[in-house]
Amino acid sequence: MLNSAINVEELLRAFRIDNAIMSYGSFVPRLYNFCRSMGFEPGRMLPSRAFCSDESQGYPTILIAKHFGTFPFNHGRGGAIVATQRHGPFAEHGQDLVIIQASHVGYDPDSREFGTYRRIHAERAEHTTSCGKLAAVVAPYLKEYRFAQRSILLERWHGKLCVRIDNGLLRGNRTEGLFLNLRRLVERDPDGEFTPVRTYSTSKSFVAAASLQRDWTDLEPQEGQRTSIGARLVPNMFSFQRELDETPEGRDQQELGLIGAMPWIVTSRRPLLAAAQINTQVEFDRAFRTAAQAPSYRGKRLLHISGLNIDISPQLGETFPKTNFVPWAAYVQSRDGDQRILEQSELLAALLEQSPENPDQVDLEAAIAAMSSDLVQVEL
Ligand SMILES: [Zn+2]
Repeated sequence: MLNSAINVEELLRAFRIDNAIMSYGSFVPRLYNFCRSMGFEPGRMLPSRAFCSDESQGYPTILIAKHFGTFPFNHGRGGAIVATQRHGPFAEHGQDLVIIQASHVGYDPDSREFGTYRRIHAERAEHTTSCGKLAAVVAPYLKEYRFAQRSILLERWHGKLCVRIDNGLLRGNRTEGLFLNLRRLVERDPDGEFTPVRTYSTSKSFVAAASLQRDWTDLEPQEGQRTSIGARLVPNMFSFQRELDETPEGRDQQELGLIGAMPWIVTSRRPLLAAAQINTQVEFDRAFRTAAQAPSYRGKRLLHISGLNIDISPQLGETFPKTNFVPWAAYVQSRDGDQRILEQSELLAALLEQSPENPDQVDLEAAIAAMSSDLVQVEL
């Protein structure tokens, strides 16, 4: 069986950000030229964006419109879930199709923090969470993790390191919440059971697992003293369960995609960056399959590219934010049905090979002026 713990860790590690990041102003023309290099035809390409509904995602959208010469189709739902049931209408609207799928995370250049974004149109131009949808999904899990960090205590009893666990975390009849992986934390008794050596009013104390006795030699609580487990509570020691609506693209789609990775998200130094990376990865893995199987794309050229939008908060006086893109992976389908996946390093190399100049880009100001000039009468 696949070890899901290693899987998530590897997945996060595989998503390189350093040396893979590019400005949108450089990314979009390179993407356009990459499509051209694969035979996509100018004037017949239709882009689509699967972005979060956050207004910060408008800037990349404007650049896509400029370089592809058309406003992109909307393939995205809040939190950058790909609306795969829209494949049919999208496929009808263009010959050569490009889906750009990206989760997003805010970045504040002053504090160098990920996960916040300055809302320059708010009354006090304050910072709020970004992606706000992902922040709302992650918040209750973070709260439960913080509670566990505080309420699992390490103490010494009869010379042995013991783990004292709040009864709320031990209750087995729960269907939701943080569940401890006791075999990582606690030594079994000779019968193979997890038996407490001391019982308190609201908690129980167990002899710590032999591996922890060995690894945590720096931790020396004196007899009768205790300290909270804090950052020593690492992802392989717990998991989360929640009763979620498992309907594909139902109301809990985002949470369903993230819950298995949640121990890594809540223990990350940058939870919203980790959540956005994982969301991009699980959504690509899910959505490219639906695209590869959709009859509507047969006989068409299709590129589905995924990545991460990093929104650099605008400074006061700036109209738009600066957005960076980190490519993750892509799926390419030719008209005669050849299919291939480009992993991050291949995709990055393919983009960097392209020119950042796009002679086909449209002059948006001129296009808008032409659009606004005359009233075309509508006959009723
Ligand atoms: Zn968002």
